Amino acid sequence: MGEQLYQRVALIGLGLIASSMAHAMRRAGMTCEIVGTARSAETRATAEELGFCDRVAATAAEAVKDADLVVLAIPVGAMEAIAKEIASNLTPGATVTDVGSVKKAVIEAVAPHLPKDVHFIPGHPLAGTEHSGPRAGFAELFDNRWNILVPDEKTDPGALERLTRYWQALGANVDTMDPDHHDLVLAVTSHAPHLIAYTMVGVADDLRRVTDSEVIKYSAAGFRDFTRIAASDPIMWRDVFLTNKDATLEILGRFTEELFALQRAIRTGNGEQLFDYFTRTRAIRRGIIEAGQDTDAPDFGRQGKKS
Ligand code: NAP
Repeated sequence: MGEQLYQRVALIGLGLIASSMAHAMRRAGMTCEIVGTARSAETRATAEELGFCDRVAATAAEAVKDADLVVLAIPVGAMEAIAKEIASNLTPGATVTDVGSVKKAVIEAVAPHLPKDVHFIPGHPLAGTEHSGPRAGFAELFDNRWNILVPDEKTDPGALERLTRYWQALGANVDTMDPDHHDLVLAVTSHAPHLIAYTMVGVADDLRRVTDSEVIKYSAAGFRDFTRIAASDPIMWRDVFLTNKDATLEILGRFTEELFALQRAIRTGNGEQLFDYFTRTRAIRRGIIEAGQDTDAPDFGRQGKKS
């Protein structure tokens, strides 16, 4: 039986991340009560049908009652309204965390509304797929993935320790960062790459009209990988770019400069520059595989694995 870290966990939002957390809690043998809620009656009914929660509440305010862990697993743009809604129903001493992909904006949106006697410890599991909704979840999503917790100097060490052990029980490795650093690192590793993928697929779609679907028919591995990323949830990613504006624009500025440099190397026939650049980037891929964050399979390790 798993360690009893919390008695009642409230999942606000019942999409990919929350449903995966529920499955992973069960896999870990946690016996806590899982109470979930989502915005639409349809999602709540699906969660009831799938049975990964013990109870599905009609509202967030109702779901958090008597919970000692509250997880905000909703789009970043919805965090403030939910924080306001749940504030007066939170139990003193409870921990409130989130899984949002941006940290500074979530802290600004949520922290001012929470009572002083709850522990707010923001977080972000670096695990996901292009699928969303309550049916998309699976217990292995967080295995060997990083979960970044964002405590501040006033965070209660006991509450942080408990939340760390909870995420470790769900299969994740846990690290801590400050919010600005988190947002910059994620702009490089996730947010800018998503925007580039969205753009590339958009360009191909424009071209498709010219070439009459050859882009789809002959799509090669590079383009197919872009389409997988560009199939990600539009609401989630809209909110990421609206709320991680500064860091994303900084990285896109650098990206554009590098792109121009490579464009120039192609125009001037500078093969040495291209070769050296591609040799350097190849080493990054090797580093990711050595760190156990992907596999060396020709399909990028995605076959039979959802992330
Ligand atoms: P998801 O599968 O789309 O689920 C989102 C959930 O939030 C749904 O249950 C939805 O309810 C609910 N919701 C949406 N808008 C709401 C609102 N205005 N008020 C209340 N509830 C609302 O999303 P997800 O992938 O689990 O993402 C959840 C959070 O995790 C996001 O902040 C995202 O940035 C973060 N995250 C995502 C990934 C990823 O790859 N997907 C990875 C790491 C972190 P309905 O279904 O009823 O609309």
